[in-house]
Amino acid sequence: MKPELSIVISVYNEEQNLVPLLKAIKTTIPVSKELIFVNDGSIDNSFELLKNLKIKEETSDTRIKLVNFSKNFGHEAAMSAGLNNSTGKYVICMDADMQHPTSVAYKMYQKALKTNKEIILAKRKFRKDAGISKRFTTWLFYKFINIISPFNFEPNVSDFFLISEKVKDVIIQQFTERKLFLRGVIQNMGFEKDYVEYEAIERFAGKSNYSLTKLFILSIEAMVSYSKLPLYLSIYLGLGFGLLALIVAIYSIIMKFIGNTPPGYTTIVVLVSFMSSILFLVLGIMGIYIGYIFEEQKKRPVYIIKEIIE
Ligand code: UDP
Ligand code: MG
Repeated sequence: MKPELSIVISVYNEEQNLVPLLKAIKTTIPVSKELIFVNDGSIDNSFELLKNLKIKEETSDTRIKLVNFSKNFGHEAAMSAGLNNSTGKYVICMDADMQHPTSVAYKMYQKALKTNKEIILAKRKFRKDAGISKRFTTWLFYKFINIISPFNFEPNVSDFFLISEKVKDVIIQQFTERKLFLRGVIQNMGFEKDYVEYEAIERFAGKSNYSLTKLFILSIEAMVSYSKLPLYLSIYLGLGFGLLALIVAIYSIIMKFIGNTPPGYTTIVVLVSFMSSILFLVLGIMGIYIGYIFEEQKKRPVYIIKEIIE
């Protein structure tokens, strides 16, 4: 029978968090559910532990499904695999490190039933889980992407959300790009959504697997897939510099007629160096987009599953 709820949990080196997480889910989410643990190439004991938990802890009310990747493909890929393997009427994605409270997951489910909305997003009230630098870069990312993209991204909403089976099917069948940036997709699908507020707490154990570099790459990918503005930057820059060049030209001609020909050296050096730096900037932006198109057109698998244990 179809479970009420599928809970997708991405796991990358979370051996110390899995037992408390499972316990919390069992005590706070009293509906029929399947837990889909996607092991994203953990190099610790997570997968062995998951196999054990499946044998010992599975009940008719709490099915446990294990999807084991062949290597680390990243959190986004793990969530995609989870969605693809879920069968419940609603699907929740959450982290394995207890930063996403299970009681809030249950609240999202209740809210979905009550409001009949297809999407419920968990919204962070304030976060104790991140230092100044992470908070600042996150803030900057959302400011920037909301300026350059026609879509809207909410700053305090992350990868903790509930979607209905219908929304899940649309995502699986109609969003065929490799780099999904799932939270962006969900917020901008047009389905009615609602929110549940929560307080982000610190990781129960282990350390964050999202380094600043990983976050930076995710940010660039999100911007490239949601905004074409950087590509058009060259047009504006070209126009701006065309105008500047025109002014310099008129100035030089006038000076020539007045007979007060300036040496011109400075102007040339400044202009040439400035223009070439702009050229390289624009080339760089194009390079990023071309790289993105290159990656997408290869249609390589987003993830490779070694085994599924049902
Ligand atoms: N994760 C993953 N693959 C990765 C990195 C992280 O599946 O390559 C999982 C991780 O186990 C956790 C969730 O994604 O359940 C969020 O990661 P993390 O807690 O490191 O990120 P943060 O909360 O610091 O943003
Ligand atoms: Mg975390």
